[in-house]
Amino acid sequence: MDTRDGVAVAGPRGLVGSALLRRLAADGRDRVLPLGRAEADLRDPAATLRWFLEHRPARVYVAAAVVGGIQANIERPVEFLRDNLLIATSVLEAARAAGVKKLLYLGSSCIYPREAPQPIREDALLTGPLEPTNEPYAIAKIAGVRLAQAYRRQYGCEFISAMPTNLYGPGDKFDLRTSHVLPALIRRFHEAGRDGAASVTVWGTGAPRREFLHVDDLADALVCLMDRYDGDSPVNVGTGVDLTIAELAAKVRDLAAPGTRIEFDPSRPDGVPRKLLDVSRLTALGWRPRISLDEGIRSTLAWYRQHLQHGQDNR
Ligand code: GDP
Repeated sequence: MDTRDGVAVAGPRGLVGSALLRRLAADGRDRVLPLGRAEADLRDPAATLRWFLEHRPARVYVAAAVVGGIQANIERPVEFLRDNLLIATSVLEAARAAGVKKLLYLGSSCIYPREAPQPIREDALLTGPLEPTNEPYAIAKIAGVRLAQAYRRQYGCEFISAMPTNLYGPGDKFDLRTSHVLPALIRRFHEAGRDGAASVTVWGTGAPRREFLHVDDLADALVCLMDRYDGDSPVNVGTGVDLTIAELAAKVRDLAAPGTRIEFDPSRPDGVPRKLLDVSRLTALGWRPRISLDEGIRSTLAWYRQHLQHGQDNR
């Protein structure tokens, strides 16, 4: 008899992992096995393999990663490259050795070439130079996606990968220096409203275009892929809709600190000019996002404010 059951979530305390835990708990179908730092150091192949052999999960979501915005990648390239490579190599090998039935590896839209035609299709991977500001992370994640494909080809493992667009939601990091743009804007405008500041400074020119997906929608899409997709190509996960950073800043301002003036600081990096995913592969499976950007910003702002009141600023 096959003793494997349960679904493991590697990186259970991160933005994506915690959304997956909420989604899987709401579903109630599976025994959920969180696989975080407390359970095993995923950079260590032997410790990772021990955990897999002991717990024998049937399915695995690999949401563990060192993540951060432009500034964090510039300051800590070794962790972004080395730790993410180690996590991919030790988790995928342990999953193979322990006979995991299906594994979903999380890539990211920022691993596509800087000049990829928009909206970006999955086959744009490795067709051109990367965006230098997140290259360490991108190199590691590309290796992870290719490794999942290699395990399919060499060992017949059901390993798939998903490429989420920019994510946001409860549990995000709101550190002004290292976070991604949306949580940074939520915090900046919240503080401007609180302090009665006349203006807020937003990095870059405001012209770059980005797509944003609420992490609860991502978790729902990942469960859909785990159930319905088994292919070699990674699958993009997004809304298929983008907006400029200036438009995004105005949305956050209107909700958090109406009337505040927005100023731009072009001495800060813009990053890639546009990043919008072609999500036709995913929508062909029947999946659609449910949370609008306005609704998502409103609820994430509320979460941030509530979190602050409880004295846990996530810094
Ligand atoms: P990216 O999508 O990989 O470029 O990562 P980010 O989320 O860090 O940045 C997205 C865009 O938002 C870039 O053009 C940034 O210059 C811009 N941006 C504006 N204000 C901020 C901010 O306070 N923090 C961050 N991280 N980005 C900002």
